[in-house]
Amino acid sequence: MSVSRFTPGSGQEPDPLALRPADCNLGHACQFCPREPECGLDKPHHEKRLLEKRLAQIGQIILVMANKGGVGKSTVSANLAAGLAARGFRVGVADADIHGPNQSRFFNLVGQRIRINEQGLETRACFGDCLPQPVRVGSLAFMMERDDTPIVWRDAYKHDFMHHLIGSFDWGPLDFLVIDMPPGTGNELITLADLLEQQAVAALITTTPQEVALMDSLKAIRYCQDRGLPIIGAVENMAGVTCPHCGGEFHLFPRTHLAEALASLEVTSLASIPLSPLLAMASDTGHPVMLDQPDSPEALAFAPVIDACIEHARAVGITAATEELQSMTNVAGAELAVALEGLPEHERKAAQQELEALLAGERQRLQSSSGRS
Ligand code: SF4
Repeated sequence: MSVSRFTPGSGQEPDPLALRPADCNLGHACQFCPREPECGLDKPHHEKRLLEKRLAQIGQIILVMANKGGVGKSTVSANLAAGLAARGFRVGVADADIHGPNQSRFFNLVGQRIRINEQGLETRACFGDCLPQPVRVGSLAFMMERDDTPIVWRDAYKHDFMHHLIGSFDWGPLDFLVIDMPPGTGNELITLADLLEQQAVAALITTTPQEVALMDSLKAIRYCQDRGLPIIGAVENMAGVTCPHCGGEFHLFPRTHLAEALASLEVTSLASIPLSPLLAMASDTGHPVMLDQPDSPEALAFAPVIDACIEHARAVGITAATEELQSMTNVAGAELAVALEGLPEHERKAAQQELEALLAGERQRLQSSSGRS
């Protein structure tokens, strides 16, 4: 599993001498601003700064993807977010499924409407008895007058909404942002992939046992691999049914070569989630099983997915910290070499050994504290 940051393109180096335009420091996009008609500030600069400030406060971003609709991305997203929050992490759910935004339903927030303040668009919060802090949800559903209004947007609007979803919502500091992706590898995914370059972002692939779903999921995997987007693993949803009478398990969908297909693409199969009335009911009533029935077989089936996401984020954190330390080591080593130039050789060697021992100890401390967190 790759744990590197998502760095597909080589961006242009900023000019350090360039004059920076003034910013209003408001937390919302110009599109939502009452001062917009008279404002003479550099608006593209404001939008860029806004996005940078949001992303600087977000830890690991997880795109829950499948190329196909109806495989349970939203169920997986909601339960992943709830499970991470139940383990004490600060979690947000960004609903990127423009044509079917339903995270409001999964978290019992149907009918809630968006409010805007100087920090941005307010996320809506799902509180749970077992949660140290609420799950924050951002969705287009909170902006619609009616929940059954169809979204008929051309690509330019979708592109703008993806910017607002990350930049205009006031996410606050988050350990994880789970993004419930729309089906397909179209505009929404491309826009987000461009926006999230250089961030700690990874994909979680959702599929079902059917051949048709598997074929589409493989396309999503290939997209990630082509763009250099790390994949945490795959979740097989609707994997089997437990008979309520005899307790036996049976499969509604014909079994496919899922395991072999994932293995051939070096994608880890993380979990098999059953097709279950409990999960369906929990989704409809807005009470994720991870919160309401954490000991149910359905919730336990999600546990490896949550473990894998935490482990991935931890590995990314260690890699980033080690790289940072290495770069500090290089700078310190170069500065020390200059400072020691006038010393006799044996003293220079002793000082260098002392510095190396110091850095080795720091590296060790960093790794063991990351392992404990
Ligand atoms: S229009 Fe944009 S740049 Fe101007 S004050 Fe409003 S949010 Fe800030």
